[in-house]
Amino acid sequence: MLTTKAREVIRCCQLLAECSEEPGFTTRTFLSPPMRNVHSQLTPWMEGSGMTVGVDHAGNLRGVYAAASPASPRLFIGSHLDTVTRAGAFDGVLGVVLAVALVDLLEGRRLPFTIEVVGFSEEEGVRFGVPFIGSRALTGSLDEDLLGRRDAEGCSVADAIRDYGLDPSCVGQARVEGDLLGYVEFHIEQGPVLDNLGLPLGIVDGIVGQSRLTVVFSGAANHAGTTPMSARRDALAGAAEWIVAVERLARDTPGLVATVGQIRALPGAVNVIPGRCQTSLDVRHPDDAVRSAAVASLIERARAIASGRGLEMQWDTHLEQRSTAMSPLLTSMLDRAVAHGGFPVHHLSSGAGHDAMIMASRMPAAMLFVRSPQGVSHHPDEAVIEEDVAAALAVGWQFLEEMARSGRWST
Ligand SMILES: [Zn+2]
Repeated sequence: MLTTKAREVIRCCQLLAECSEEPGFTTRTFLSPPMRNVHSQLTPWMEGSGMTVGVDHAGNLRGVYAAASPASPRLFIGSHLDTVTRAGAFDGVLGVVLAVALVDLLEGRRLPFTIEVVGFSEEEGVRFGVPFIGSRALTGSLDEDLLGRRDAEGCSVADAIRDYGLDPSCVGQARVEGDLLGYVEFHIEQGPVLDNLGLPLGIVDGIVGQSRLTVVFSGAANHAGTTPMSARRDALAGAAEWIVAVERLARDTPGLVATVGQIRALPGAVNVIPGRCQTSLDVRHPDDAVRSAAVASLIERARAIASGRGLEMQWDTHLEQRSTAMSPLLTSMLDRAVAHGGFPVHHLSSGAGHDAMIMASRMPAAMLFVRSPQGVSHHPDEAVIEEDVAAALAVGWQFLEEMARSGRWST
């Protein structure tokens, strides 16, 4: 039965992938016209499963499956419905469709708690350069600043909400209130760890913290033909030495990932020594102390390389995001559900941000990763294995059963 359901889930994700801004690919940004198609395809299925469905003023699709008795606490299950540019069919969408399928499997049986399925309107940050618009609305952190942010066409978040037929002055109503049991998110891993271990599922311990910086090396631009090597102050060569040091430190530090993803050398001519080189640095680790120490050490290294080469070095921090721990209580329930299904219990941290990170600021949150074959994600080749989806359904089912038995709602 779960295999049939898993097949339905996959088929549904593939159908929704056709709702796109670009024919032949899957691109679906915040409240773009294809999002309306996604909402209208999911709504009848959700209603047919016994949910009351609506779209809040931040564009989140929300289906409420009422508890056996009124005034019961609420468990949220969901993920996001937007995608990156030229995405695959499963990042985000799988978590929403799996949640609907779980409610569907209840076949009308009411639990001692309400289940609310959420399809977040925006998680990827493609259109406005800021991620998590949907989950920020639920946690009450979608502020005026964010509503005023504009996309490449000059359209603001508030305009986009209005264009969709919603009211930006009412986004406050999207905020969740009352007795909140927690938030559970099913998501593809988007990395190769589970695939390499041959495991269908992984339980997320926490979402890594992140630092983003700009590091600039300044030297002197000069003639590439007439300036002797000994007289040069080449900013790009200094940056290159540092980039290799960044890679080395990350390789030598367990759990650390560090990336220089942007580099801009000026003046940028083939026959001129680069006088200035601007680089980006992205550092992530589950332990905030390890991350901070790594950033400090990389800045020190940049300073030492610069001074050894007669360069100046400046740096600026743009983002300091602490790691987010998942709820030990909900995570242990996922552990038991995974073990109950006969699957190995494997914990890992998430190197990418997720809606669960935002939701964790308001309620206990937990995440289950589903294996990504070859670790492929944010790409049309993104895939899932049918048995893995069936395994996730089994775990979700068992999780709901334990929650229903636990008596947590009556305390
Ligand atoms: Zn995602």
